[in-house]
Order: sequence, then structure tokens, then C-alpha cells
Amino acid sequence: MPTTRAYAAPSAKAPLAPFSLERREPRAQDVLIDILYCGVCHSDIHQVRDEWGGSLFPMVPGHEIVGRVARVGSAVTRFKVGDAVGVGCFVDSCRTCGPCRKGEEQYCAEGMVGTYNSRERDGAPTFGGYSTHITVEEGYVLRIPESLPLDRAAPLLCAGITTYSPLRHYGVKAGDKVAVVGLGGLGHMGVKLAKTMGAEVTVLSTSPSKQKDALALGAAHFAATSDKNTFTSLRGHFDYILDTVSAPHDYNAYLNLLKVDGTMILVGAPDAPTPLAAFPLIMGRRKLGGSLIGGIRETQEMLDFCAQHGVASDIEVIPIQKINEAYERMLKGDVRYRFVIDIASLRGP
Ligand code: NAP
Ligand code: ZN
Ligand code: ZN
Repeated sequence: MPTTRAYAAPSAKAPLAPFSLERREPRAQDVLIDILYCGVCHSDIHQVRDEWGGSLFPMVPGHEIVGRVARVGSAVTRFKVGDAVGVGCFVDSCRTCGPCRKGEEQYCAEGMVGTYNSRERDGAPTFGGYSTHITVEEGYVLRIPESLPLDRAAPLLCAGITTYSPLRHYGVKAGDKVAVVGLGGLGHMGVKLAKTMGAEVTVLSTSPSKQKDALALGAAHFAATSDKNTFTSLRGHFDYILDTVSAPHDYNAYLNLLKVDGTMILVGAPDAPTPLAAFPLIMGRRKLGGSLIGGIRETQEMLDFCAQHGVASDIEVIPIQKINEAYERMLKGDVRYRFVIDIASLRGP
């Protein structure tokens, strides 16, 4: 096996720096992947900075992985050398619990094995996609449709499925009024996917400078959350609100924007809780729910849906050497709309 070059955070809040590791030899059902691109998710920042607690170091982040199959184990049936493939947020699960049997491995009763900052079932630490190779069991590998550009497909593996899954699960349909809160990596995919499903999308954003982009991405309307009129003029307006915001904010103000029986879905995962009042839920029989990424079957469905409708992420490709700068820019909301690492920058001369 070639040594895998990577970038790792040596400890919480330390900058990422070059690192090397050994991937396991492919077992019978494993696929060895040459990684080409890896998206940069805000969850990478939360975990590198140990904002959710329990982070494992050294940490090689990255769970929006796209590459090509370099080698297959003797029992692999679904992939061959050269195939374009993806790996998302998890690389294993128990396979026997109720959620696993339903194909919702992200809710595995024993806990999914995260692509990084996690442990394999044998206890070995997992390292993610800011690296040149990864070995993954074929059942946890996705097929990237050939019509999708590989760099723009990478963010679909997390930002894409994290927004697709709740839009489907909670039943968004043509004609529904959907608000997307926060126009970042997840938010811009939420806009594209909800629009493709036929919804009338409104972006609610702290950044008035994103208005033009929001409309170009497919939103019908844009409202700045700094404008207090937004919270009065849009009261009772939406069937659904998809909240992708990464920092604590007042959920109550947004709940009031739902119609009777409307649903607000949290996918953004701030590191601190926000007080929730009963009244915005009671007044209007509103619902508040959440959603975690998506299972393998649904992730493949999402990739095929994106290929069919010509949907991919809007990205800024960076070399790995710019990763620490990219994190700082994401924290300022300065990303249009997903950083994607060109892993060629790790391979070197
Ligand atoms: P991102 O690209 O940084 O986008 C987050 C957006 O939220 C920003 O662009 C900004 O949009 C808005 N925002 C940031 N700070 C804010 C604040 N204080 N108040 C209001 N709005 C603020 O992040 P991302 O990669 O899309 O991830 C978003 C969140 O989803 C993160 O917490 C991440 O960990 C979580 N996540 C969850 C799942 C899941 O399975 N549920 C999966 C992946 C990621 P505007 O400029 O438009 O306001
Ligand atoms: Zn993610
Ligand atoms: Zn399970």
C-alpha cells in the first residue's frame, strides 16, 4: 500500500498541517479509492475545534469524498477499477439493527462509524478525505453518475444528502413555500434541491450581499434577517423552514413564520442550545424536527436525482495548503458556496 498523505489537526483548535498515515490493505469486500476531491463542511470545523465534545486527535477531517477506484478486493461485485465513486459521512454501521435494515444507517442503534473522528468496529481510528487514499467496504461506497463533474459532486456527499433527505422525509412537494435559513454549503444545496422539487423557495440570510446569488441559485425570494420587517411581513407564510445555520440563533422567531401545521427542520448543528418557547409551536400547531445526513440508499437516490436534473454544488476549488484560511472564511460566511480541496495538491510532484 502506498503511504497516504494527508492534512491533520494535531489537537483542538490547532491549525491543520501535513500528516501521513497507512490505509488498510483492501479486504475481500473493500474498495481502495484514489481521492480526487474533498468538500469542506462546517462540521469539519466544529469537530477540529472540538465544539461538539469528544473529538479524537490527530484528526484528518473530510466526509465529502470523490475519487476513482484504484483496487478492489476479491469479493467486490459493485465496482471496478476506474469507477467514479464517493464516500460520505460514514464508512460502516452494525448492519443488523432496525435503522440499518431500513437503509437508514445514519441512525444505527450502535452508532454509525464516522468517516473521521470515529472508530472502526475493531477500535481503529478513522481518518477522512483530506488525504490521498481511503479504503472502504463497498456497501458504504456511492456511485457518482458520469454526467456529474467530480469536483462539483463532492459536496453532494454531505451538503446534498443532508438537505435532500429532510425535504423528502418531511414531504416537501411542488408548490410548497419553503424557507432556507443560512446560505452556505448546506443552504445553497437546499435551495437548488427544493426548487428542483417544485417548491417556491425563500432564502432568509444574515448577508444581504447574497441576494443576487440566492435568486440565481433558484430562490424566488430573498429576505435579510437583519431587517425586522422580515419577521412581521413573513409571519405565517411558510409550509417548511429548513434551518442550516451553524451558530446559535433564535428558533422562536423563525417558528412564527410557519403556517398552521407548518414544519421547521433543523439540520444546522450549533454547539450551544437555544431556549425554545412553547407558544410559537402551540399557536399554529407547528412542528419542529431534525434530520441527520441520509442513508446509503437515499444518498445514491440523491446523486442520481442530481444527475437527472443537472444539479451540482457551486464551489471554490482550493489546494489543501489553503485549508486553514478556508476555515476562517467559512466562519465569516465568506464561501460561495462550498470549498472543495483539489487532492492533487497533496500528491505533490
Ligand atoms: P456554512 O457553509 O458555514 O454555512 C452556514 C451559514 O449559516 C452561513 O453561510 C451563514 O449564512 C449562516 N450563519 C452563520 N452564522 C450565523 C449566525 N450567527 N446567525 C445566523 N446565520 C448564520 O456551513 P455548512 O457546511 O452549510 O453547515 C451548516 C451547519 O450544518 C453546521 O452546523 C454543520 O455542522 C451542520 N451540518 C449538519 C448536518 C446534519 O446531518 N444535520 C450535516 C452537515 C452539516 P448567511 O450568510 O446566509 O446568513
Ligand atoms: Zn458534513
Ligand atoms: Zn445498525
